[in-house]
Amino acid sequence: MKRDTLVNHPPAVTVPADNRPLVGPIHQSVKFSFDDTAETLEYLRGERDGFFYSRSSNPTLKQLEILLARLQGRDDCLLVGSGVAAVASSLLSLVRQGEHVLAFAESYGPTRYLVRDLLGRFGVTHTLLSIEDLAGIERVLAGTPTRLVVFESPTNPVNKIADIAHLTAQARRAGALTVMDNTLAGFHNHGGFEIDLYLHSLTKYASGHGDVMGGAIIGPQALIDRMRKDVTTIGATLDPHAAFLIQRGMRTYFLRHQRQCANALEVARFLAAHPRVERVFHAGLASHPQHALAARQMGDFGAVVSFDLAGGLAEGARFADALRLFSIAASLGSVESLVMPAKLMGGQDLEPGLRAAALIGPGTVRLSIGIEDAGDLLEDLGQALARAFA
Ligand SMILES: *Cc1c(COP(=O)(O)O)cnc(C)c1O
Repeated sequence: MKRDTLVNHPPAVTVPADNRPLVGPIHQSVKFSFDDTAETLEYLRGERDGFFYSRSSNPTLKQLEILLARLQGRDDCLLVGSGVAAVASSLLSLVRQGEHVLAFAESYGPTRYLVRDLLGRFGVTHTLLSIEDLAGIERVLAGTPTRLVVFESPTNPVNKIADIAHLTAQARRAGALTVMDNTLAGFHNHGGFEIDLYLHSLTKYASGHGDVMGGAIIGPQALIDRMRKDVTTIGATLDPHAAFLIQRGMRTYFLRHQRQCANALEVARFLAAHPRVERVFHAGLASHPQHALAARQMGDFGAVVSFDLAGGLAEGARFADALRLFSIAASLGSVESLVMPAKLMGGQDLEPGLRAAALIGPGTVRLSIGIEDAGDLLEDLGQALARAFA
């Protein structure tokens, strides 16, 4: 073998079956080969285990798929390159022309765009309600044949809690599938409900360090198997190196999440007692109108704390600018704390009535709480509130 042939056929290193690395390797390979055509055909017919092409499956992804499906309490998982890829590919896989989708004003902005604008272009109809409009939900599901109910809980940014048992019962009666974007609550929450499909942005609490993007689609075997070809052929594949980083992030998932939730509760209590704060949106506060529902549905209350300043857009921006430990940035769920004043928040696509339901006002500020020292965070919030009104 000449050297220029050798560099393209690097020597294979096989690890003995009884000699395992404690950390799963990054299988940074697009292709996997079997010994011969017969074995390859057997694999392609689904008659043997293995891997063939990384757009469809890869061992590094497989490890993460099994872990996330187990945490969420379902059979299987499809990994994609971002959270919106999980939403978009699920919607495209599950609906067809002429079908109707029920979605909510409080949901993630790009999800609203996908339901209203993108699916709308393909002849899929929708109704957008407030997640709190239980009578409206009943009316729509009883009156309009509906394929999908797509919802979130807690909602972003103001932590409304969906009544999941009510929603899933209504959907089931109407023959609609429920799709829950469970990013804010996490893999360890909501598994006990009769939800058909769970979506997660792995960019948030799963990776936890703000250095990688990913998305997951989790559900029962039959449904995932039915969606697999569509989702893999849409092609928003997660890269093996990204899967490795997310897998590493997952090792500290519970430690981070516990600390973030505990910090968030302290921040929420501090803000609720502050004279410049009109209202705090965090389901861990006993004053939250859905505190009891949240306590029943979740084991914790999340790490997003939003609040209304006793001021408007200008005070919100001054407050964000005055913070030293919170960066002004999109996204949430990382180890560092972040702030978003209303000036930078979306919701412009919503008509005034639904925008009010989404509860984004001029003085609304969203905080994503990290794992820093809680005392340092409170001190920073206090000085920034003082400077916002100086
Ligand atoms: C961030 C987010 C997404 C999108 O995730 P990306 O990884 O940024 O594409 C979807 N849903 C919710 C609830 C989110 O917070």
